[in-house]
Parts: sequence; C-alpha cells; structure tokens
Amino acid sequence: MKPAPFAYLRPTGLEEALAALAEEPGAKVLAGGQSLVPLLSMRLAAPSMLVDINALPDLGHVSTSREGDGAGVRVGALARHAHVLADRDAAEVQPLLALALSHVAHPTIRNRGTTVGSIVHADAAAEMPMVLRLLGGSVDVASVRGRRTIPAGDLFLGPLESTLAHDEIAVEAFFPALPAGGGVAFQEIARRHGDYALVGVAALVQLDGDRVTSARMGFVSVSDVPTVVDVTDALDDPAAKALAELEPADDIHATAAYRAHLVKVLAPRVLAAATDHARTRAG
Ligand code: FAD
Repeated sequence: MKPAPFAYLRPTGLEEALAALAEEPGAKVLAGGQSLVPLLSMRLAAPSMLVDINALPDLGHVSTSREGDGAGVRVGALARHAHVLADRDAAEVQPLLALALSHVAHPTIRNRGTTVGSIVHADAAAEMPMVLRLLGGSVDVASVRGRRTIPAGDLFLGPLESTLAHDEIAVEAFFPALPAGGGVAFQEIARRHGDYALVGVAALVQLDGDRVTSARMGFVSVSDVPTVVDVTDALDDPAAKALAELEPADDIHATAAYRAHLVKVLAPRVLAAATDHARTRAG
C-alpha cells in the first residue's frame, strides 16, 4: 500500500522543528523511519505532516562520562543504532547497550534506525525501551514550552504509547553507567536472528564482595510495556517472581504459555550470567 498524503518539512534548526510541531497537531517526527514508514505504508498511521529531524544539528552524538552522578552514556536523537553499537567507550561504560543492540533488527535497519526513536516509539517488543527502564535512565525532550527530563519509569504508558506530548522532540537519552560491583547480561529467543524477540530477558546485578545485594530483570515481548521486576528476594527462582508480575499474552508469534516457558528458561540463565559478569569485573 501507499501512505496517505502528508506534508513534509525538513527543518535545519531545532526551534523551527518545534514550532512546526506546535502549529500542526497532526504532525509527526520522522527520525530513521524504520518503524514509522512501514506504519505509513500500511496506513496504520496517517499524520498530516512529517517533520524530518535528520537535518537538525548536534543530535548525532554518543558521549560517555565515567565519573560522578552523570556517569553514563548520552545518546543524541540522530545517533543510529549501529553508531551506538560500535562505540567502544559506550560498551565499556554500560555494557548492556551493546549486548542488547546486537539483537536489534538487522545491520541495514540499525544503520538508519535511531536508538532514541526506538525508545520513544515505546514498543514492548523492542530491546532499548526495556534497557533504558532497567538501567533507570531518562530521556530529555524539547518543545516550544522548554525542556524537561522524563525518567524511564514515567515514559511508557501502553503499547506504542509514551508520555511525550505530540509537539515534543526527544533530543537525548541517558543510560547510567554500570557501577563497580555491577554485572549485566541479555539473551533473547527469536525465530531468526534480527527478528523481534519472542521473549528477551536482561539482568542487572549488584555485588558486595561475593553477595548479591540487588538483582533486577527486564523483559521484552512479555507484556504491553517494557517491564522490570526486582528479583533480589528471589535469586533461587527469578522466573516465578517475574511471572507473578508479568502477564504474557497470546499473539500471532507465540502463545502466552510458550512465552511463560521461555521466561522460565531464560530468567535463571541470564541472572547467572549477570552475576558471573559482576564477579569477572571484580576480578
Ligand atoms: P521512526 O521510525 O522515524 O519513528 C518511530 C516513532 O517514534 C514515530 O512515531 C516518530 O514520530 C517517533 N520519533 C522518532 N524519533 C523521535 C524523536 N527524537 N522525538 C520524538 N518522536 C520521535 N527494533 C527493535 O527494537 N528490535 C528489533 O528486533 C527490530 N526489528 C526490526 C525489523 C524490521 C524489519 C524493521 C523495519 C524494524 C525493526 N525494528 C526493531 C525497529 C527499529 O529498531 C527502529 O529503528 C526503531 O523502532 C525506530 O527508530 P527510528 O529512528 O527508525 O524511528
């Protein structure tokens, strides 16, 4: 199918882009187009205008900081998945980024799709919204009213629904650094590598000496929104704790029972891998 007609604007300044979004309530931001363009072609979305942000300056960065409260990785709105995945400093400061990004789609899609676009698209089957939520990151957004920071815990409302207003542009995502004593792991099951996960599981573990003092797990494709479960009190059976909080659903890709089975298989494996990672880092 072909998209419904729309106006197209390619501003070269952020103020111009924000003004256009404020003036046109039916407008949508176009970043990498890897989710939006298929939706347009299938006429599942029919915006009156596309505000293409690809010519905006200063949004392509991946920058890292290793010290203090701001330690972490900052990813600009025009940084492609491939750029974030290839950034060695980012992988050192927060290894979960590269672990999860290597499962996002295929190289051609990662060359164009943006990590920030994936987050604000808020697909519970996508890896990066879950990663942002598990790590306790945030997104900085801009509009004609000014700027604000949305913590990941306040970002995801429902399937493909975030708390961004229609006239806001997400300019940067912040992923906190992995602290000393921390470990992470990620695994997913997909029919083919690069397909959306039937189930994906990440773990973030904190050690004090050899003792696990905190363990949190994030789940992809298991509920309507990216979900994080604290399993610190359930280290022997993290899947049971997770499944008490998650509500896997049937869809055309898998039954709820199969998804629950995959959670049971992956959760203990991923928790063990994250714990090993923390021990290896501690030396
Ligand atoms: P776009 O498609 O341009 O936009 C998506 C939505 O976000 C739109 O509503 C747009 O208005 C909004 N938006 C984008 N950027 C901003 C911004 N800065 N501010 C405000 N709103 C914004 N993703 C996965 O996570 N895992 C996968 O396994 C996976 N497999 C894929 C397989 C295929 C075949 C395809 C086509 C895509 C796949 N994707 C997958 C999606 C891919 O990761 C996209 O890059 C991502 O979902 C959206 O990023 P984008 O830059 O392309 O956003």
